Parts: sequence; structure tokens; C-alpha cells
Amino acid sequence: MGAPDPFTQTTDVGHWIGGRAVPGSGGRQQAVWNPATGQVARQVRLAEVADVEAAVAAAKAAQPAWGDTPPLRRARVMIAFLALLNQHRDTLAAMITAEHGKVFTDAQGEVTRGIDIVEFACGIPQLLKGDYTDQVSTGIDNWTLRQPLGVVAGITPFNFPCMVPMWMFPVALACGNAFILKPSERDPSPSLFMADLLKQAGLPDGVFNVVQGDKVAVDALLTHPDVKALSFVGSTPIAQYIYETGARHGKRVQALGGAKNHMVVMPDADLDQAVDALIGSAYGSAGERCMAISVAVLVGDVGDRIVPRLAERAKALKVMNGMELAAEMGPIVTKEARDRIEGYVALGVEEGATLVVDGRGLKVPGHEAGFFTGGTLFDHATPAMRIYREEIFGPVLVCVRVPDMAAALQLINDHEYGNGVACFTSDGGVAREFARRVQVGMVGINVPIPVPMAWHGFGGWKKSLFGDMHAYGEEGVRFYTKQKSVMQRWPDSIGKGAEFTMPVSK
Ligand code: NAD
Repeated sequence: MGAPDPFTQTTDVGHWIGGRAVPGSGGRQQAVWNPATGQVARQVRLAEVADVEAAVAAAKAAQPAWGDTPPLRRARVMIAFLALLNQHRDTLAAMITAEHGKVFTDAQGEVTRGIDIVEFACGIPQLLKGDYTDQVSTGIDNWTLRQPLGVVAGITPFNFPCMVPMWMFPVALACGNAFILKPSERDPSPSLFMADLLKQAGLPDGVFNVVQGDKVAVDALLTHPDVKALSFVGSTPIAQYIYETGARHGKRVQALGGAKNHMVVMPDADLDQAVDALIGSAYGSAGERCMAISVAVLVGDVGDRIVPRLAERAKALKVMNGMELAAEMGPIVTKEARDRIEGYVALGVEEGATLVVDGRGLKVPGHEAGFFTGGTLFDHATPAMRIYREEIFGPVLVCVRVPDMAAALQLINDHEYGNGVACFTSDGGVAREFARRVQVGMVGINVPIPVPMAWHGFGGWKKSLFGDMHAYGEEGVRFYTKQKSVMQRWPDSIGKGAEFTMPVSK
């Protein structure tokens, strides 16, 4: 069975096990919506425990041969996959827009940032090179190598159905593991398309599997003894649950959670740049990015100067079907998510923040049933307010005014999330001090969304990441491999007699 066509596919989205699409064992399914039209586009199957067991069995059977395949040959599969991804980039992007709602050019960017990781994984022979020490003692050498873990799994969120899985599986596969992906049930189609491309690239059957589903599938992966490691990206309560449950079942876990990202605007910042940065990073992808800026920290007199300009731009946002060329912002992923976001806007008013632009109730002509909301802007929010403390995950920018940099840092460092942060200033000393003092994992200086490149690794601090190792980059390679140390000498140089003291260099 080939990959689904994003434009015409109306049939169920099933699983991918043992190198082919399969419908699964149970009858449970869930609607997948086109958020721009508000119509059900298709149904996604929800895996039962038996489906997860079938995927793990297929992965376990395929992994030893794949793990034994020389890294250079594994890299060649990645190189072929890379070529196919480049060839089908727009198909994948259209598939993302159709189920997630984000603007097509933004979806293209998402695929490109995923492709970056595949390019990184193509260098796996270099990345897996071990350390070697000649002559640690007379006639004895010691080296370390990194070996795959076996079967590993990834559980991913709706907001990047292509890129976030690609934070995980290219590195995991290149390291010699078999991988099971449990994508978001809200936009499941890209996962099957990527599975088919991997097969076309020459990946042996069973090395990459997809199980669609919900908590049933996740819990089956979390407790399965043959799953050695779990990567998770999603909201903080689930990240914490995954981390704790996975660890209790003896698994290695990296669990990336939610965010509330601040952008500090200093009085000496270039205000034109700061306005562009805030509008793009707060309302791009309708704020449904874990690196979206959702709090503007306005220092000194910046508030009076910038808020009217932000208001003008927020009101003028072009909100429409993401496939339209002029679109700047698409719909929200589901009706429930849209209603939750609009509920937060009502809450902000109740809490006493100043509602400068109200995006609620937006109707897009021709798409009246779509899950749209406009850009919302609050001013004079305080740290006690829930609209400041909680992740809204929508196009709502909350402005907080502070007197100076010390107060800005205090505010950010006191927040429970620590994913991304930005500081706009023209003072190098201030920027340097900010980058050093801020308790956040990913920092932008005059860069609003500082998503690290493929070879640097992605991860926040505090409640934005449970576990030690960040996604992709060299930390990704470490996460998906275990170190082995080998100490060797050959019989003709082995001295006589047992040694009862701790071996030391001689
Ligand atoms: P989510 O936590 O609802 O879902 C993520 C995954 O967990 C999905 O595959 C889902 O099926 C599964 N899941 C949901 N509820 C579960 C449960 N009770 N038990 C077991 N599994 C469950 O997140 P979402 O709404 O899909 O994505 C948005 C969230 O993801 C936001 O909080 C956002 O900040 C976060 N996110 C974080 C990063 C990061 O790098 N830190 C990146 C992208 C998204």
C-alpha cells in the first residue's frame, strides 16, 4: 500500500507495522478535521495494546540486523530519504496545512527544519566514532564505542507533525535502533507518508513503525519491556507523566514539555525590529508553537511606544485558510482548542488585564465553520494572572511592563517554564549579561525564536524538559546509544599470575 494522497485521501489513517500500512486490530477511531473548513476530513485508527505489541515485535525482529549494518550504509539510507523528502517537501507541507491548519509556507519551513536533522543524521559515521587510547598499560589498549539501545519510541504533539518526529527518528535510526512513532491523533497523515518514504529509501521493513492512537497506545509503549527508550514532546503534565512512568519501567526518557516564552524589549532596542519579531513570533502558526513568544516584557518607556504599534499590526493580521498565498495566520487545530483559547481571553478580562485587541469570534468569509480566532493583545498583565502564568498555546500576546532589566530577569527566572526566551537590545553588555543570567534553555539575542540548529540540540529548562538530554544534535546521539568501554590485550603479552589489587597503569 502506498502513501496517502493529502488532497484526495478520505479513508482511514491506520498504522505502519513491519513495512506496510495496516488497519489494526480494534474498531476505535477518531475524527481528523480540516480546521480551515471545520469538516471531518478522515478518521484515524486508535491502536489497541495488541497493535503496539505487533509493532514492538516487528521492531525487535528487525533491529539486530539493522544495528549490525555498518553506519556508512545506514547513512546511505538517510541520504536516499533526504532526497525523497526534498522531492516531496510540498506534498508533506500541504498535508500539514490540511490537518494542522498552519500557513503553507510555514509548513514548508517545518519540513525544512526536519530535513536539517536528516542531513545531520547522514553524518552518523563521524558522530559514532569512538575514543581510543593506545597503551593504557603496557600492551593494553582501551577504547569506547557507542551501541544502539534496541527498540525505541517517540510520542509527538500535534503542532509539528513532521518536524518533531524528525527531531527523533532520523538520529535514532542512524544510530542503529528500530523506532516506533506514536504521532498526534489530531494530524496523523504525515507520519504514514514519511514511513513510506523511508521504505522507498531502502530502510528494511520493521525498522520504522507507526502506531496511531491515544493514551492506550502510549501506556502500552511506556510499560513494554522491549522498549528501551522514549522520547516525548507535548504538554508539561503529560511530559511529567511520561518521564515518571517510563523511568519506573526502567526506560531512558527525554520528555519535552510546554512553554511560556518571554521576549524582553529594552528601551535601546530597534523598535521596528522588535515589532516585527513580536508579531511574527506571537501570531505565526497561530501561536501553536512551543517556541512562540507569548509574553512581551516591556522595559521602561517601551510599553507606551510599542503597544499602539503592536495593536495596529495585530488587528491587520491576514487570517485565512493556510493554503491561501496571502495568509499570515491559519485556523486553530480543533474547535475545542479554539474555544479554550477564547476562554483564556475572557479570563484575562476578568483578571483585570487591558484587552487591547480582541481576536474572539473572528469569521473568515467562505470558511464560516472553520476554527478561526484572531490575534489577541493584552497589556498591563501581572505575574499573578493566569493568562501570564499558564500556557495558552494560541495567538494571544500578553504584555507585562517592568522598570528595568533586573526586574525582567526576575520575572522570567521565577516562571515555571524555561523553554525559549529573547532579548531585544542594542547593548552588547546587556545582551551578554541577559544570556548568562537567564534560567531558560534556549536564548535569542535580537532573534525571537531561537530554535537551535540540527547539530546543537533542542531543549528547555525547568518544567519544559524532564530528563537530562536534549533532542537531536550530539545529545540525541548520546540519548539513542549506550557507551561501551573495551580494554584489550593479547595473550603473548599477558603476564603470569593472578592480580588481586586494583589494576593500575604499569
Ligand atoms: P499533548 O501533551 O496533549 O499530546 C502530546 C502527545 O501525548 C500526543 O501524541 C498525545 O496523543 C499524547 N497524549 C495526550 N494525552 C495523553 C495522556 N493522558 N496519556 C498519554 N499520552 C497522552 O500535547 P499537544 O496538545 O499535542 O501539543 C501541544 C503541547 O506540546 C504544548 O504544550 C507545547 O508547548 C508542547 N510542545 C513542546 C515542545 C518542546 O519542544 N518543548 C515542542 C512542541 C510542542
